[in-house]
Amino acid sequence: MNNFTVEQLVTDYPLVKKLIALEEVSWFNPGITTLEQGLPHVGLDSTDVQGASDRLARFAPYLVKVFPETAVTAGIIESEVVEIPKMKAQLEQLFGGKIKGKLLLKKDSHLAISGSIKARGGIYEVLVHAEKLAIEAGLLTVSDDYSKLFSDEFRAFFSQYSIAVGSTGNLGMSIGMMSAKLGFTVSVHMSADARQWKKDKLRFHGVNVVEYSEDYGVAVEQGRAEAEKDPMCFFIDDENSQTLFLGYSVAGERLKRQFAERSIVVDEHHPLFVYLPCGVGGGPGGVAFGLKMAFGDNVHCVFAEPTHSPCMLLGVHTGLHDGIAVQDIGIDNITAADGLAVGRASGFVGRAMERLLDGYYTVSDQRMYDLLGLLNQVEGIKLEPSALAGMFGPVLVADNAEYLERINMTDAKMESATHLVWATGGGMVPAEEMDKYLAKSTLV
Ligand SMILES: *Cc1c(COP(=O)(O)O)cnc(C)c1O
Repeated sequence: MNNFTVEQLVTDYPLVKKLIALEEVSWFNPGITTLEQGLPHVGLDSTDVQGASDRLARFAPYLVKVFPETAVTAGIIESEVVEIPKMKAQLEQLFGGKIKGKLLLKKDSHLAISGSIKARGGIYEVLVHAEKLAIEAGLLTVSDDYSKLFSDEFRAFFSQYSIAVGSTGNLGMSIGMMSAKLGFTVSVHMSADARQWKKDKLRFHGVNVVEYSEDYGVAVEQGRAEAEKDPMCFFIDDENSQTLFLGYSVAGERLKRQFAERSIVVDEHHPLFVYLPCGVGGGPGGVAFGLKMAFGDNVHCVFAEPTHSPCMLLGVHTGLHDGIAVQDIGIDNITAADGLAVGRASGFVGRAMERLLDGYYTVSDQRMYDLLGLLNQVEGIKLEPSALAGMFGPVLVADNAEYLERINMTDAKMESATHLVWATGGGMVPAEEMDKYLAKSTLV
């Protein structure tokens, strides 16, 4: 039983009425704190991020072997940052306001292996599991050259074990590809909205794809239930996993290095605003955590969700977190934004991170398509719809005097600000699919 009624929620939180009406809304949380005050609630710290970073470095020589496309970055799966000045000019023109500072794009859309942000968390969790099994079996030590995992002996060892995950598509791609390469038997439980081309690609690589006619929540439940029956099966829990979260968090220190190389300053006088598309929350939450560890109170993270799947905004705003789903307030959770079609937010991310996240907003599917077309037209960058959810953020921040005043942003600071839109997917979308997305844009 739910311990709330919709009537009461709407009375207590007028914003919920707008969510129900599928309006585009934003909420900049007045309850945010400093990093120092907020960090104890996360339960993780920079040592954990460092541990994840070290582990990824250990696996780098192996990743170069199995995924030769990672050779250019020496087995470290990392994406570029690019400035998008023409897109900034278009946004200003369209929405009639000035966006002070620079506009940059973080191209996780073009990460190796899965072409999405999931190449961070999903792959990391599979590697953690593989390392643990191999070390326990006495086949590996942390000082070994991990390229030795690229062998029939190790593939035979891992083939005794299986991995299962529920996914709307991109997480399944990352976990499926990585697990299959190591030799695991892997099942990906796909929700109804998952794209055919993703299922085809996984099957081609030997992954067992189980299809559901229901949404992500159901696919996860079924995956979990199947895994519980098999002691050799490890279930990757996208809704609660701290391991996934830490895999994403490494992005923070890496971005800090990329900024340093390009002389992009982030300090008290040069704030950084980061706009992150949010599904269940692990990806954007983990990245935001890593960013906070790297840039402290000078980074401001804002989450973006589809108007049809505003689970994190709903959970944090009402304080109910995973105790409420968008379906409970009559929202259908149907969106073209792959990866964002999640009705119930992570039970752990919202509670852990709410004090450290400046705000949340929703965008319509049409808005994402429009921005997708525009970005392609003016910058020649092709993304999937979900990856455009963050693109509207700089407009909302620029327009919100109350929020900017509350966090002590002067005009001078905003003139020196960096706005970073986290492009979370799209690099592997087949050309015919991309053409269909582009055709939906009404702006170009
Ligand atoms: C999964 C995904 C996200 C969001 O990550 P969550 O961990 O589900 O919040 C955003 N964009 C894309 C393209 C994704 O696949």
